[in-house]
Amino acid sequence: MKRKTQLIHGGVVGDELTGAVSVPIYQVSTYKQESVGQHKGYEYSRTGNPTRHALEELIKDIEGGEAGFAFGSGMAAVTAVMMLFNSGDHIILTDDVYGGTYRVITKVLNRIGIDATFVDTSDITNIRKSVRSNTKALYIETPTNPLLKITDIEAAVNEAKMHNLLTIVDNTFSTPYWQNPIKQGADIVLHSATKYLGGHSDVVAGLAVVNSKELAEDLHFIQNSTGGILGPQDSWLLMRGIKTLGIRMEEHEANAHKIVEFLKNHPSVRKVYYPGLEAHPNHEIAKKQARGFGGMISFDVGSEEKAEQLLSNVKYFTLAESLGAVESLISVPAKMTHASIPADRRKELGITDGLVRISVGLEDVEDLIEDLTNALV
Ligand SMILES: *Cc1c(COP(=O)(O)O)cnc(C)c1O
Repeated sequence: MKRKTQLIHGGVVGDELTGAVSVPIYQVSTYKQESVGQHKGYEYSRTGNPTRHALEELIKDIEGGEAGFAFGSGMAAVTAVMMLFNSGDHIILTDDVYGGTYRVITKVLNRIGIDATFVDTSDITNIRKSVRSNTKALYIETPTNPLLKITDIEAAVNEAKMHNLLTIVDNTFSTPYWQNPIKQGADIVLHSATKYLGGHSDVVAGLAVVNSKELAEDLHFIQNSTGGILGPQDSWLLMRGIKTLGIRMEEHEANAHKIVEFLKNHPSVRKVYYPGLEAHPNHEIAKKQARGFGGMISFDVGSEEKAEQLLSNVKYFTLAESLGAVESLISVPAKMTHASIPADRRKELGITDGLVRISVGLEDVEDLIEDLTNALV
């Protein structure tokens, strides 16, 4: 099955009972048992729900894993996966991981004894140098947010395997349409499905896919024990979103390439960050491990004032956090998505006050370029 077909025919298709071509929303908490313990596979909707199950089967199929799990947000998925580890364990993470991931690791999980080191994983030797006797996992995000740095997934997995570490990949930016980390050897893939998978700025959700029966059992135990599940309505919305992921990603990509060309040649733009640019330091790796470069672009306009001016001048780009939806969004990471990262650390990472991030939507690209032309001063 090819990729666009799988988005529509993967997982659980329709409803056998009625012939409905869309999986029904099973808005239910509990299930009748014929006698004690005798049921049709469902007992209680925290443990399992048919609509959520259909979504979990779908993400499992499109990532090429062993089992999928749906959570109430991307952060709930990240946290559940972190619960695989114990007090005293150490994890190595990409230094510019999503701000919320940085926050949960350094302000919540640290309190229960999970230790972490953040390094630039685009240089594999940094991973090697950070391994300790208690290191249990390598957690990478690629491309990263907002500088779109790329980590070589295969090389990172090889390094992790040498030290018996699990490799966890946050695949939110690429989506399974462009990149499948499990096929490149990763053990766990995470998604903020709030972004491209949902694709319409109308649902908050998280997904995890694991590559082994053992991890599937462990993560299901955690999902059922901690309870951060996705409800049936939102599971259905996500499946609806995923059906069009392929055509949406193709169009985000095409629009992004045209906007990158425009920005590259604009005198007010100092630097453009996009993995599809040949000048991007890891362009070749991005090309090797992903089929597309995505719809996220960051660029530096030089100062906070200029960034703010741009933000107030645009009319099609909505000033908002989040990304990956049909509508184009614009933000200043230092003041918004990455505000929870301390200022000195932001500076270290290169997230300047003049850095603007756009999530290229599905509007006519001519309108988007005209909008930027008028807004960039
Ligand atoms: C948004 C995001 C998350 C967190 O997901 P929520 O759905 O907002 O909880 C995690 N990782 C990345 C890369 C994200 O963009």
